[in-house]
Amino acid sequence: MPDLLELLAHRPIVCAEGYLFECERRGYLQAGAFVPEVVLDHPEVVDELHREFVHAGSDVVEAFTYYGHREKLRVIGKEDILEPLNRHALSIAAAVARETGTLLAGNICNTNVYEPGGSADQAVRSAFSEQVTWAAEAGVDFIIAETFSWAGEALLALEAIRAAGLPAVVTYAIHRDGGMRDGMTPQEACLRAEQAGAAVVGLNCIRGPMTMLPLLAPIHAAVSCPVAALPVPYRTTAAEPSMQALTDPARAGQQAFPTALDPFTCTRDELGEFATEALGLGVRYLGVCCGAGPHHVRAVAEAIGMTPPASRYSPDMSRHSFLGSAPGIGTSYREYAPNL
Ligand SMILES: [Zn+2]
Repeated sequence: MPDLLELLAHRPIVCAEGYLFECERRGYLQAGAFVPEVVLDHPEVVDELHREFVHAGSDVVEAFTYYGHREKLRVIGKEDILEPLNRHALSIAAAVARETGTLLAGNICNTNVYEPGGSADQAVRSAFSEQVTWAAEAGVDFIIAETFSWAGEALLALEAIRAAGLPAVVTYAIHRDGGMRDGMTPQEACLRAEQAGAAVVGLNCIRGPMTMLPLLAPIHAAVSCPVAALPVPYRTTAAEPSMQALTDPARAGQQAFPTALDPFTCTRDELGEFATEALGLGVRYLGVCCGAGPHHVRAVAEAIGMTPPASRYSPDMSRHSFLGSAPGIGTSYREYAPNL
């Protein structure tokens, strides 16, 4: 079985995320609560998506337990399915990871009940601890603790992962003001996580490639462990730096998040360019979050020098009937190309 840090020492790696948005888009998960009941209701959908992401180049199969924690299940009145949901998500992911020789990751995230000052720490700790226990029992290679906007909450997550003796990848969500809710800069929060024992630190979700990229160099300069960067594939801008901030001029300036982000979707080329630039800054753990499709994941994988199975079908426009130049493409068709 591969080991996360050994693999990272050898080459940059790809981690596909974004299961919530993709299952929602496919019609198997409800936007709003965003609870991954799909792992119980339609496990075949989750299994297939894991396989598509591995086919596209993901080195990691991340169990779909995002927002599958006690606090979220309480909101939808289904705490009774908490444990089966987690165990089932882990077993679906484990089967794909073991079959494909990829890394198996458990996953915990923001609880949405954390408050600075410690008033909710016990509830947060126990939410993390139960999920980490189930992940450890499923034999995960490491645990991803993600989308934290409070550094303090991420450190509680990290504590639970370290207590289980597992490597931790800690990635923060940076909202529109560019800092953590605790007042730290992203690089300060990453350094704190590294000092507390995280194996990999960085950013995921919320920001598109253009507004995540400027945050990466200071993080890389602040820490000595591998750095992660997994943007959302949306065209965020300096004026609207997060996917939640994006407003659609074609829809009277309405907020596009979460179900009307389609017109802002990045091309695969933009994700590939992001990966190339991030790699140039020293980022070793690359991926795509909410909104990711396999074509985005493949572009990231290819940009860092990999040839995943899906590369067999990467574009070759020389074979196009009008735009191509391959033998057999008719001259009159080529000449007609400008009229297309
Ligand atoms: Zn995300």
